[in-house]
Amino acid sequence: MTTSYPAAGSPYPDEAPVSQALFDRAKDIVPGGVNSPVRAFKSVGGTPRFMVRGEGPWMVDADGRRYVDLVCSWGPLIHGHAHPAIVAAVQRAAALGTSFGTPTEGEVELAEEIVRRTPVEQVRLVSSGTEATMTAIRLARGFTGRSKIVKFAGCYHGHVDALLAAAGSGVATLGLPDSPGVTGAAASETIVLPYNDISAVEAVFRENDDIAAVITEAAAGNMGVIAPREGFNQRLAEITRANGALLVVDEVMTGFRVSPGGWAGLEPVDADLFTYGKVMGGGLPAAAFGGRTEIMSRLAPAGPVYQAGTLSGNPLACAAGLTSLRLADDSVYKRLDELSATVGALTSDALNTAGVPHRLSYAGNMFSIFFTDVDVVDYDSAKTQNAGAFKAFFHAMLSRGVYLPPSAFESWFVSAALDDAALEQIGAALPAAARAAAAAGGASS
Ligand SMILES: *Cc1c(COP(=O)(O)O)cnc(C)c1O
Repeated sequence: MTTSYPAAGSPYPDEAPVSQALFDRAKDIVPGGVNSPVRAFKSVGGTPRFMVRGEGPWMVDADGRRYVDLVCSWGPLIHGHAHPAIVAAVQRAAALGTSFGTPTEGEVELAEEIVRRTPVEQVRLVSSGTEATMTAIRLARGFTGRSKIVKFAGCYHGHVDALLAAAGSGVATLGLPDSPGVTGAAASETIVLPYNDISAVEAVFRENDDIAAVITEAAAGNMGVIAPREGFNQRLAEITRANGALLVVDEVMTGFRVSPGGWAGLEPVDADLFTYGKVMGGGLPAAAFGGRTEIMSRLAPAGPVYQAGTLSGNPLACAAGLTSLRLADDSVYKRLDELSATVGALTSDALNTAGVPHRLSYAGNMFSIFFTDVDVVDYDSAKTQNAGAFKAFFHAMLSRGVYLPPSAFESWFVSAALDDAALEQIGAALPAAARAAAAAGGASS
């Protein structure tokens, strides 16, 4: 790959003329210039980089600059960019026909792989995490005959109307109130509680007998990374079961990333429904939800709860997802764990050296840095971050060829493709970035 490197001591310029020209063109015809809000760099400022290609741990932008990718398409790319086996599988599938609107063997194989790795007995394939959680909620309501949903502040479950209350991810990044366009009726069926607060869950069940489900991220990754307190998820399972409600564990981010079976592989929880996405699509649009046959068999055409999708189980997405999962053996998970420990420690050391207060927070091999000096256990504590320090840190890393999530409320993601050269680039960028964070007011006095 022909690339330009940032020479030591001379970072890329802040201006990115080719990306800026593309962004200007896009803004005329696409709201905000992007097709998903956080991509616009709104909370960090500057020009969003338009990427032209990826290879292993690297991405190259339209200005010909190369970055170590610590976003990995927001999680899916555990094997890095353009893994040859995944590319070949997609090419093979494409040559056979891109979509049939009929069942195919690839869907059966992907479903079998998911069932083999996770606690679910049956699974339905969809195309996005949003669809997975939306349908899981509908199924929970259909199964229980109840209407209310409990979610946790700062957890993000896609842009489902009922789940946009106090949502994480872009809603948190942009500091939005709950979204206009979500009706009062939809919002009033959603009860929002603080994350990691079991007594709040117990109280809400004492006051309500119409709760269909509690939905929680298996580990929170959309307000920065916050692991569930020990026993939190299992207590949710016990409380929901005792009250005739369902527990939906959203593994769209954690699934097949933090272990072969997702978060459930690290901490078994008796949940009723699980949702998956991101990694299981291998970089193409594929997602899923699943659970016990008793519940899943209520879905059409086996049962009355309706759900469908023109491109559900798309052959290219199934080929990419299946190949990605089959490549993800124990050695890959070991590597992801080691790499996330290494990158987290390098970052924390650099920030300590520069005197920048922060919290390095892990959930399995997902992690993020909170620029704060309080312990982060929920959305309120996550919001104590110093946004200016993050912004300065982000841009100093970007100009030194390291692509971090352009938001203080997102997880960092490693891929197993991170090699010594990529780690060196991260290590070389960190001291200046930590100093920039300190200069932006992140230093302890
Ligand atoms: C990304 C994400 C979603 C939404 O998935 P999309 O494919 O973006 O619709 C849902 N839940 C969690 C936990 C996520 O991280």
